[in-house]
Amino acid sequence: MDDCLFCKIGRGDIPARHVHDDELCFAFEDIHPQAPTHVLVCPREHLASLAEARPGQEALLGHLLAVAAGIARERRLDAHRAVVNTGAEAGQSVFHLHVHLLGGRPMGWPPG
Ligand code: AMP
Ligand code: ZN
Repeated sequence: MDDCLFCKIGRGDIPARHVHDDELCFAFEDIHPQAPTHVLVCPREHLASLAEARPGQEALLGHLLAVAAGIARERRLDAHRAVVNTGAEAGQSVFHLHVHLLGGRPMGWPPG
């Protein structure tokens, strides 16, 4: 997608602090961190949201979570949270699927 912010970050057209890159996904520090660790894990393939995921993409979706868990492990985060906002009403503001990895502070439940 030519005009997608996270596709541009994935291609390196827009700078970001990358913490992971592989053939299926990339991960980078959120520009407005909501916790000491706040990383976004994105598929390289443009999917507007989790709602766009189709049968056959289960391995890709699982990979995003596995990468998030690996980053949490590297950072020795005993507790952390993986969040996928889907749809504007749920707080999604960038329409390229991403998993937020949040950690390093206590978190309440339910989320806002
Ligand atoms: P969401 O609201 O779930 O769609 O999350 C989008 C996230 O992208 C927010 O947490 C933003 O702070 C983050 N964000 C927006 N622009 C950038 C950017 N250029 N680099 C890194 N993170 C960004
Ligand atoms: Zn995109």
